[in-house]
Amino acid sequence: ALAGRRAVVTGSNSGIGLGVAEALAAAGADVVINSFTDTPEDHALAERLARDHGVAVRYIPADMSKPADCRALVEKAGHCDILVNNAGIQHVAPIPEFPAEKWDAIIAINLSSAFHTTAAALPMMQAAGWGRIVNIASAHGLTASPFKSAYVAAKHGIVGLTKVTALETAAEDITCNAICPGYVLTPIVEKQIPDQMKTHNMSREDVIAKVMLARQPSGQFATVDQIGATTVFLCSDAAAQITGTTISVDGGWTAL
Ligand code: NAD
Repeated sequence: ALAGRRAVVTGSNSGIGLGVAEALAAAGADVVINSFTDTPEDHALAERLARDHGVAVRYIPADMSKPADCRALVEKAGHCDILVNNAGIQHVAPIPEFPAEKWDAIIAINLSSAFHTTAAALPMMQAAGWGRIVNIASAHGLTASPFKSAYVAAKHGIVGLTKVTALETAAEDITCNAICPGYVLTPIVEKQIPDQMKTHNMSREDVIAKVMLARQPSGQFATVDQIGATTVFLCSDAAAQITGTTISVDGGWTAL
């Protein structure tokens, strides 16, 4: 269904970004995957995706904490029909102890990068007369948790950016939406488990069941495949009138 479309997915050598890249490739899109690491494994991953799905896949390194890199990623892609702003990091600490450089890095990677990639991609989409922008926000784009000040601020910010992008493109065949996942068991979540074990003085199993999934009424993690399929749906003709909004994939978290 997406044959002939070119997708750029930021932060896509692991986790949700990789799941989204895989789903877009399976739907027939050519894909640019990205991270800042530029390892042989990153390039091998692009080759593997291309082989598995019979589409063109390129790995382009770019550091999403740097505005010039964000714009260069889209320029180097050459064209961008589908932009998925996914790169993100997390840090958990009470506000008085929250390192200022962590705040700056989270705002840069989780929020500002999407502004810069969108600024570079929109003229391409406008010239082509078609475009889809999917911002990977979070349940934390709609609600808050203690100790995640920068993350919650950045995710609320990207929901705001999503609405403005949608309004500026509403008269064209371009949409912009945000997906708000609840907990998905990816490396970013794995890394939080030791901190949460310390903060709550709990075992790994208890942190998963009583802290993380306590917020998720389904009692289950969402999966990267589900976020990928939701992205493909937002790129489909059925979703052409869906713009400027959020889709929660959170097992009921934000209904609580
Ligand atoms: P992850 O750690 O597996 O993936 C993060 C990705 O971002 C990686 O590919 C990494 O290489 C990339 N990245 C990090 N810093 C970068 C930088 N400076 N430049 C370029 N790439 C960079 O985590 P994930 O869970 O897959 O997270 C992906 C997105 O989904 C994030 O925006 C995250 O906030 C969001 N999210 C995750 C969950 C969850 O429970 N896992 C829930 C809601 C939202």
